[in-house]
Order: sequence, then structure tokens, then C-alpha cells
Amino acid sequence: MKNIILTADRPTGRLHIGHYVGTLRNRVRLQNEGNYDEFIVMIADAQALTDNASNPKKVRDNVTEVMLDYLAVGLDPKKITFCIQSMVPALPELTAYYMNLVTLPRLLRNPTVKSEIKQKEFDNDKNGIPVGFANYPISQAADITAFDANIIPVGEDQEPMLEQTREIVRSFNRIYNTDILTECKAVLPQIESCYRLPGTDGSSKMSKSLGNCIYLADEENEIKKKINSILTFPRNVEDPGIVEDNVLFIYLEAFATDEYFEKYYPEYKNLDELKEAYKKGGIGDGIIKKFLNSVMQDTIRPIRERRKEYEKRIPEVLEYLKEGTEKCIKMSDNKLKEVKKVIAIDYFDNDSFLKEQIKKYNN
Ligand code: ATP
Ligand code: MG
Repeated sequence: MKNIILTADRPTGRLHIGHYVGTLRNRVRLQNEGNYDEFIVMIADAQALTDNASNPKKVRDNVTEVMLDYLAVGLDPKKITFCIQSMVPALPELTAYYMNLVTLPRLLRNPTVKSEIKQKEFDNDKNGIPVGFANYPISQAADITAFDANIIPVGEDQEPMLEQTREIVRSFNRIYNTDILTECKAVLPQIESCYRLPGTDGSSKMSKSLGNCIYLADEENEIKKKINSILTFPRNVEDPGIVEDNVLFIYLEAFATDEYFEKYYPEYKNLDELKEAYKKGGIGDGIIKKFLNSVMQDTIRPIRERRKEYEKRIPEVLEYLKEGTEKCIKMSDNKLKEVKKVIAIDYFDNDSFLKEQIKKYNN
């Protein structure tokens, strides 16, 4: 079996440290390990429109922002095929066929969709939930199966989408008595605290749509300001500290390797030692924030600098996207052909339909 890696991001804003630890870091690792036949990274603009229909400019502008972030974190256009979702016509067509395999209650039972609906407050909007929004897990199944992708590096919020995709694959293969669709699996972050990095406001997920993000393109002073604004449990310095659900410590788990302790906090060898000391009391949150800031600055600086270099080469950056999209159109058209054949709607791809009908009407 081939190893086909695929993953996507919605162009609803620049990418942030949640994306970095949740999926981008894994993408760079998988890219460098090189154990794949194809690696597709898709900018899911059609999906972004499902809850931004009245704001297409936001989606359009963020296509380039997201592409720059990809290159900035080290995704290599020589190794990765980049693609714009809405330009690949096979995807909505596959979605249409898959929609017949999923019931409405099953679709709305998806916990990620449920919490996003709540968060977006569609219900308070007189227009209600857009059908396209509720349907986006099915369109993700199309994105994945159109390329036979089986390895999907994502954050934990995407698990229900991949489960939905697997269900569609199984139903399709069973109903049409075939094996042309491939089952996929998630590659989650290696550290559990990165499955769903919380926002700087302490809410359960850092998310472009919630404005609680430290962006990979943030300048030094913005990063510092955001870290300083993180709310912690109020206490006196000498009181014992709590590390559970403490955003500062969750971020440290995600980023503070032992080397950073040696460089910026040599009193402690590693995070476990710091946690123990913090729990005993005597360490103020100001010191923790200062350490976190040093770690974040070192992490983001090279990414920001590489981004600035690519910002000077926009035609080249967009060319990667254009070339990759053309390749994806071809690949997915082939898959769509296979799908239409097994559903028996490939009427004029060969002469079997003609022969069948001639026989039926005796002419
Ligand atoms: P939106 O609010 O528009 O949905 P988002 O910030 O959730 O934006 P997506 O484009 O939906 O970003 O997600 C892209 C990828 O990043 C997915 O694989 C998702 O799991 C991952 N991801 C997003 N936010 C986080 C986070 N806070 N922690 C870990 N992974 C994340
Ligand atoms: Mg999202």
C-alpha cells in the first residue's frame, strides 16, 4: 500500500502556535523522514466559505497568508504538493455522492461540529446553520479519498472528521462492492498537551476564529504582550502553585525542551523539576512568563524571519500553489472516474452503456 499524506487548513487567518504543535510540527517531521509516496497540503478555502460566505475577501486574503506560514515553518515545495481546494472540481462532485451515504442525525452528532456550532452561535443568527457548514465533514471525506490519502497529521479536534471519513469509505466499499476507497488514520501530536492547545484566554482551543492566538508571524513585542496577558490562578508567590490546567505550563510542555532550561533557566534541569518546585511554592508566575517568553521568542523568530524572506517572493510562492493545484486536479479526476465507474454512472467513458441499451431496445 502506498503512503499518501494529506492535510489541510482553513484560510480564515494566519497560522498560530496551536497549528504548529498540533499539526505543522508533525508535517515537517513526516516530510523530513521522507517515508511517503505523495504529500498533499490543501488550503481549504471552500470549507472556510461554509461559515464565511458573506466574507469571501477574508478567505481570499488568507490563502497567501497560510501558504507563507507553510513555507515559514519549513514545508518544502520540492517535497510537498500544495493545493487550493475550491479549484479541484472532483471534490464537490465526490462530496455529492458521499452525501447519500450519511444520515442527517449522524452528521450533526459530530462533537467537533457540535461545539463549533455552539461557538459560532449560528442559532442566534436568524439565518441558522448553513447546510454547507453542517456538511463539511463529508467534504473532508472527499478531500481525503480523492487522493487515496491514508496518513492525516492533524490536531485532536479532527478525529471525529476522520471517523466520519472511515464510515463513508466502509459504506461506499460495501454498497458498491469495491475496495477503491482507502481508510485513513490520524497522526496526532507526539505530546498530549499539543492535541488541542488552549488559547491565551484560557479557553479550550487556540483558534483563529476566537482571536486568542499567538501567531507564527507575531513580532517580538506582540508575543511578549500576549504571554504577559495570560491569566493565571491568583496567589501569593510563596503559596503552592497549580500546574494542572495552567496555560503557562501547557505551553511549556509543548515547547520547553531541556535545552531551553540549560539556556534560560539553569536552576532546573527540565520541566518536571520546575513543576515540582512550582507546586511547593516560592516561584511567581512572572518568572514563568519570562521563561516562556524566551522559549517562544526562540521558537518563533526563525519562522518569522523565513516568512519575511518568502514575502519578498510572492510570484514564486503562488506558483507553487498553482502548480500543485494542477497536479491535484489530475489526480482527483482519475479517482472520480473510478468512483463513477463503480456507481455505474460512467455512461460515455466506454461503450458498455451503449451496448447495454442497444441490447435492451433490440437495435
Ligand atoms: P477555525 O477557527 O477557522 O476553524 P482553526 O484555528 O481551528 O481555524 P483549522 O484550519 O480549522 O484552524 O485547523 C487546521 C489544523 O490545525 C487541524 O489539523 C487542526 O486539528 C489543527 N489545530 C487547530 N487549532 C489547534 C489547536 N489549538 N491545537 C492543536 N491543533 C490545532
Ligand atoms: Mg478549525
